[in-house]
Amino acid sequence: MIPFNRPYMTGRELSYIAQAHANGHLSGDGPFTRKCHQWLREQSGAHMALLTHSCTAALEMAALLLRLEPGDEVIVPSYTFVTTASAFALRGAVPVFVDVRPDTLNIDETLIEAAITPRTKAICVVHYAGVACEMDAILAIAAKHGLRVVEDAAQGILSTYKGKPLGAIGDLGAYSFHETKNVIAGEGGALLCRDQDFAEQAEIVREKGTNRSRFFRGQVDKYTWVDLGSSFLPGEITAAFLAAQVEMADSITAQRLALWDRYHAWAKKHEDNGSLRRPIVPSHCRHNAHMYYALLPSLEARTRFITNMREQGVQCVFHYIPLHSAPAGQRLGRVASDMGVTDDISDRLVRLPLWLGLEPHLEQVLQAVDEAIATL
Ligand SMILES: *Cc1c(COP(=O)(O)O)cnc(C)c1O
Repeated sequence: MIPFNRPYMTGRELSYIAQAHANGHLSGDGPFTRKCHQWLREQSGAHMALLTHSCTAALEMAALLLRLEPGDEVIVPSYTFVTTASAFALRGAVPVFVDVRPDTLNIDETLIEAAITPRTKAICVVHYAGVACEMDAILAIAAKHGLRVVEDAAQGILSTYKGKPLGAIGDLGAYSFHETKNVIAGEGGALLCRDQDFAEQAEIVREKGTNRSRFFRGQVDKYTWVDLGSSFLPGEITAAFLAAQVEMADSITAQRLALWDRYHAWAKKHEDNGSLRRPIVPSHCRHNAHMYYALLPSLEARTRFITNMREQGVQCVFHYIPLHSAPAGQRLGRVASDMGVTDDISDRLVRLPLWLGLEPHLEQVLQAVDEAIATL
């Protein structure tokens, strides 16, 4: 069976982990964490980058930094992973769902303004498949209404919008290094602070609400509990693994793009005869080949496609159950627009395998796609 995902190892992970072990510094914020922080700042242009246990943890930090209170509202897309909304709901805020655009499947910026109320505190956008949201329009709406912008850039590392790296365009950004993403640490993530604004507070939130980071820099004599926070930092073993990955991140992206381009060229004939729709990447967005997906004609067609691919030895998957129709989304959230696009595409989207090492099997996958399309 050709799996949907296989985590890629650069080959240096184990020796870096051995070095971390030999360094004798195993808790967080050691040399490997600093190396990852520096790389993240350099590639994103953010003022500060902080490793976390996950993108989910980074979003939960963002919710604490926004000082959300019960009843506050955060505008989010419904077509996304659970924690884009749950991170804010955990603080008692209400996720307010709006529909996505039919082309990029990103939040429809033209629907945001109508969803704003006096309780709205922030907009959390998701760069689906590593393709940017319309950030100029979103930042303008946020500025007009005094809202913060959080980027769930879990899928967006090394992607850009009009030349700007995703994750450092909004006030706060979150990356994921989960093993299904492009650059991995098993479980891992990072919080980015675009400018100085949240930076000092972010260090405090991440260190259990203490000013421990300032203490280690000699800026205060003793460290103490100063605010709400939790333990959001990973240990050095995780950072050592990630350090090996970030060194290879450009090469990983280039190799993923080569696979993505093969899928895209191959799928054109199927799009031309109406069997599927291919991903759309606006010309001002440079993407990172996080995902290759297709939109099939119907839910039934998708079910048949996935079954047929499995019979041919290729694992394909779909996502997401729209959050506005999930049990917790209904209980904790609010719908603020028609959800026509979200409801439609969530039934029809299928994801194809895309991982480094797939190259020798790609021809088999592409032949299987032709076969499965023919049976629709
Ligand atoms: C993967 C993903 C997350 C969660 O990332 P973790 O690191 O597993 O917490 C959140 N949002 C989106 C859009 C994702 O794709």
